[in-house]
Amino acid sequence: MDMFNVLTVKDTSKLIDENFSFAIESEKVTLPHATGRILKNDIIADENVPGFRRSTVDGYAVNSRDLFGASESIQSILDLKGEILMGQEALGIISVPGQCYYVPTGGMLPGGSDSVVMIEYSEKLDDTTILVSKSPSPGENVVEVGEDIRKGEVVIKKGTRLRAYEIGVLSSLGFYEVDVCKKPRIGIISTGDEVVHPSENISQGQIRDINTYLLNSLAEENGCVPVAYGLVRDEYEILKSIVEKAVNECDIVLISGGSSVGKRDNTPKVINDLENGELLVHGISVKPGKPTIIGKAKEKIIFGLPGHPLACSVIFQIMVKYYIERLTGHKETSYPISCRFKINYHKAKGREEFLPVKIEDRGTELIASPVFGKSGLITSFSKAWGYIRIGRNEEGIREGQIVSVYKF
Ligand code: AMP
Ligand code: MG
Repeated sequence: MDMFNVLTVKDTSKLIDENFSFAIESEKVTLPHATGRILKNDIIADENVPGFRRSTVDGYAVNSRDLFGASESIQSILDLKGEILMGQEALGIISVPGQCYYVPTGGMLPGGSDSVVMIEYSEKLDDTTILVSKSPSPGENVVEVGEDIRKGEVVIKKGTRLRAYEIGVLSSLGFYEVDVCKKPRIGIISTGDEVVHPSENISQGQIRDINTYLLNSLAEENGCVPVAYGLVRDEYEILKSIVEKAVNECDIVLISGGSSVGKRDNTPKVINDLENGELLVHGISVKPGKPTIIGKAKEKIIFGLPGHPLACSVIFQIMVKYYIERLTGHKETSYPISCRFKINYHKAKGREEFLPVKIEDRGTELIASPVFGKSGLITSFSKAWGYIRIGRNEEGIREGQIVSVYKF
């Protein structure tokens, strides 16, 4: 495959869709372990919430017709029949006009009542006589059966990443155990004769390994389990055996470095030579990140990511994340913030660009400016709040233009 026969980001995504089946197993977790996990199936309510008519206040359950016209100047007298106890079925019933029951917040309404008068609008004359200075409307201070959740309703859709709020809903419906997607396992392999472990001293010509840790973090941030396969020298045989092992043990394999067309860039050949190995993409028309490879072996996806850390992380954000989202069915919605662009920025036509930017808060507006740096400089992304996507056919950004900035 020709490195310069590059695909657009859109065509690459399409190729991913066509070549993989996105099957992932599920597992059961209990609610205390469900935060951040992705729901495998729709949750359908098998009961109403609440299952009984509940009061939202402390007060007297009444029939609103009995208090028609009651006010501070014309108070109505009610006959107190009893007290509804918390957590117990309301056994009493308002059978005669003018009766009421005391009901606590969250208590069940007795039969024959349709509303609750807050205790603040009442005065207790004796054990059985209540004066009321307000005329409630039907349904006032009452939550009806199924008003929160209706039996049979899809309350949470599959593919939802569970937050505290969804976990509260699951709990209210009695789902203590839920089916979630198994966390995809991401194998991480870094290559390069010049790359050394961060704890080692380095000599001239060597650099410390950034990508292993960068990718480890990105995998975790995106709900996956990173599996590190260490640093591999630019030797075909060694790389091939490690990639084989990773393909057998993981759902996704990332190889950083060696994805270009250099003498010691083994990744394309290794992928081709794996059992059922197939090279699908070699080169994407995106900046940064052009020397990106996508391959397939044993139905698993293998990404050959550019060695430059910034390019490596951009390709993770736009391509690896795309695959993870297809696998789990969860699509993260990210809302950009609008900023005014600080300078004139020219871009070559024909490829999409992801430009890292920092943001300055000027009080009345937010100003975005590019974090310049050759893609070999690693601090560019730590200084950047986010990035701007500049489309393939756009020629750049004008000074003062309003741009959408997405968080990194
Ligand atoms: P490559 O894609 O192998 O041609 O590498 C491109 C550039 O990224 C080279 O300057 C490498 O030294 C650098 N690089 C490759 N792998 C890593 C890594 N794991 N951490 C930091 N820099 C790397
Ligand atoms: Mg290399």
